[in-house]
Amino acid sequence: MRDVDIAVVGGGIIGCLVGREVTGRDPRARVALFDRDVVASGASRRSAGLHFPRGATDRVRRLSAHSQAAYARLAAEDPALPIHPLRMHMLSADPARIERTYLPTARAVPAGQVPGGLVAVPEGTGVWTGQGCQYADVGALTEALARTLRPRLALREATRVTAVTPGPADVTLRLSTGEALTASRVVLAPGPWLADPAWEPLVTPLGARVKKIVALHVDRAPAPDDGVIVFEDEDAFLLPLHHRGHWLFSYTCQEWDVDPDALTAGLSAGDLTEALACLNRYAPALAGRTTSGRVFCDAYSPTREPLVRPLDDAGRVVFAGAANGSGYRLAPAIAAEAADLLHIARPEGQRNAA
Ligand SMILES: Cc1cc2nc3c(=O)[nH]c(=O)nc-3n(C[C@H](O)[C@H](O)[C@H](O)COP(=O)(O)OP(=O)(O)OC[C@H]3O[C@@H](n4cnc5c(N)ncnc54)[C@H](O)[C@@H]3O)c2cc1C
Repeated sequence: MRDVDIAVVGGGIIGCLVGREVTGRDPRARVALFDRDVVASGASRRSAGLHFPRGATDRVRRLSAHSQAAYARLAAEDPALPIHPLRMHMLSADPARIERTYLPTARAVPAGQVPGGLVAVPEGTGVWTGQGCQYADVGALTEALARTLRPRLALREATRVTAVTPGPADVTLRLSTGEALTASRVVLAPGPWLADPAWEPLVTPLGARVKKIVALHVDRAPAPDDGVIVFEDEDAFLLPLHHRGHWLFSYTCQEWDVDPDALTAGLSAGDLTEALACLNRYAPALAGRTTSGRVFCDAYSPTREPLVRPLDDAGRVVFAGAANGSGYRLAPAIAAEAADLLHIARPEGQRNAA
């Protein structure tokens, strides 16, 4: 007899939402969730946690809409969760880009200026405002989700999965504790740990890569009604982190093929130069107030759409992730797609949701 029906590997926002999705759809399933550390120790803990209703492709737009509704349900069920609705302004020199990428629910409309006087809008750049934006303290949210999962599944922290071996009838997992365990199906949600020897041969054919992500902390307190300012043409944003009392500036770092376990050296001079060059174009007054930040990484797919795929011929091992720096905002839909691949039916009313 198998030890568990479903094993989830990785206790970040995606793994915890997979655990929630699976146990919600089939409360009788025997589920175990493994993390090599405590939950929310990876990309989820460092995330800026911005969600906005947009997507460059039809699938990402569907995932975004699904996730927006799922987060709204979660926040309604438990208003204490750290999910905070936010005003949103978008800047772009290309009006068609705003029309193309934002969902109708964003209700993007032109706005004269960005309120607050924080940003100087360059000549030829338009400003829009929209709805449906929120941000979360993703680490705290992941921990809150894990708390609700504890009675429903076996939560195994500090338990590293050291080998994943799919067979015709089940999958064998080897653990750092010396145990071997069989599962009918396995979801791998390893965040940026794509190269772990436990699954590298299974994951490499996906062609996903790991990119460094850098955000600066701006030492200025946001006003209560300050919202996010998205610099569409730069793939950058200024986000008021109300719960921490400062702004965050995220820009697109282009350092590829980094090792998540080696990103402990802090901000580099190159990170600062690149980020400040971008920030200076829009908000030079803030550039002198950036004395710290956060540095980590995420997995990116070749198509820039998240990867939710079976990794073996029998479809017993499913990969869920590589969400291209959008793993928070798309996590509920990624979890739903992973549960679909495990052949666990969606609850009534959500059959065509993503
Ligand atoms: C600085 C920064 C800013 C970001 N901003 C945003 C944003 O604004 N909006 C957004 O949507 N996304 C953002 N992201 C991306 C988002 O945070 C990630 O896509 C998301 O957190 C990925 O979640 P995950 O569960 O896949 O991975 P993780 O949170 O990394 O979780 C993976 C887990 O797997 C565990 N693990 C690894 N190997 C093993 C093993 N062998 N055995 C057992 N467990 C293992 C790890 O310990 C880890 O806890 C940002 C990321 C960063 C770094």
